[in-house]
Amino acid sequence: MGAISITGLARSFKGTVAVDAVDLEIADGEFCVLLGPSGCGKTTLLRMLAGLLEPTAGAIAIDGVDITDRPSKDRDIAMVFQSYALYPHLSVYRNLEFPLTQAHKHTGVTLDKAQRRARIEEVAAALDIGHLLDRLPKALSGGQRQRVAVGRALVREPKAFLMDEPLSNLDAALRTQTRQELSALHQRLGATFVYVTHDQVEAMTMATKIVVLNKGRIEQVGTPLDVYDRPASTFVATFIGSPAMNLLPARITDIDGVVRLIGADFAADLWDGRVDEFEALIGARPEHMRVLGHGERGDIELAIQVASVEQLGHETIVYGKAADADVCVRGARTGDIRVGDIVRVGLDLAHLHIFDAATGRRLE
Ligand code: ATP
Repeated sequence: MGAISITGLARSFKGTVAVDAVDLEIADGEFCVLLGPSGCGKTTLLRMLAGLLEPTAGAIAIDGVDITDRPSKDRDIAMVFQSYALYPHLSVYRNLEFPLTQAHKHTGVTLDKAQRRARIEEVAAALDIGHLLDRLPKALSGGQRQRVAVGRALVREPKAFLMDEPLSNLDAALRTQTRQELSALHQRLGATFVYVTHDQVEAMTMATKIVVLNKGRIEQVGTPLDVYDRPASTFVATFIGSPAMNLLPARITDIDGVVRLIGADFAADLWDGRVDEFEALIGARPEHMRVLGHGERGDIELAIQVASVEQLGHETIVYGKAADADVCVRGARTGDIRVGDIVRVGLDLAHLHIFDAATGRRLE
């Protein structure tokens, strides 16, 4: 079991609030990704979970037991660092053995040599590093080192794994491969993972739960598709998804019992009812907008002047300017759009997101 419960957790550094009263429940077996831009407090939060940094306020419990004041070694949590922190002068085997030579924190039992060997071989087989046991870390590729680092965390069967940007030293191809391996490993182990990254693709592909952080606070918690399909704020909307969601200023008002959206050169009826008029940002993902051909219509239509066109082979991405906003449209491959063209683009209300311009929060 490895359910983590975080209540009112905060940390300041000489007046800078790095983590601000975070409440978070991470269920046993979850792959929880802490996602956010540089400086949002991800690492600080993770280090408090690991027991490497004392909170200014708040509490952490694992399986209902308060561990806030427990030293790191007594937390039954393993941390995999970005730098992997392998001992350079020890073979892979010895690196994996090292944690097992320490007395087990709860039982006080140290494994004998044969037991250690059995455990190391089991873990090495799971990670496909059995053939590397005699090598020194310097004779391994980045991806292999990464697996050894995970293996070293794994041998002690912790309740939870904490990982801080473990893939950031790998090249793009290896990152993709290791991402898949980590997901498979998580499924096989069924252990709780808490994983820090600023890379939304890593978060989308591996997480069962994404926690989006901004300035030390939680912006949204949800499954990858929750946060993609229903971003709670303009921050989440533009941080997750690439190219980013389009945001267009518009006024929301009601006319004759119909709520209406009025933009610079577009307008649409939204639903029957009344509303206190407010300034909004309406959001549309690039893949939900399309360049309209002759006779084609959208619920909302606007004209954009094309600023650039990216041909990716399987699709075309068009960047342009509407009256008062940048717009990106992503769609099927097309060869006849040129820079400087004025094109009509459309989107359907089913794919429209509405945010309050003043607060950035989503309108339910
Ligand atoms: P990155 O992705 O760049 O690693 P992060 O989201 O992990 O960023 P943190 O490292 O947690 O962010 O830092 C959060 C804030 O706390 C930042 O403003 C940072 O400058 C500050 N901070 C972190 N550690 C310290 C420290 N030891 N002393 C002073 N300020 C710190």
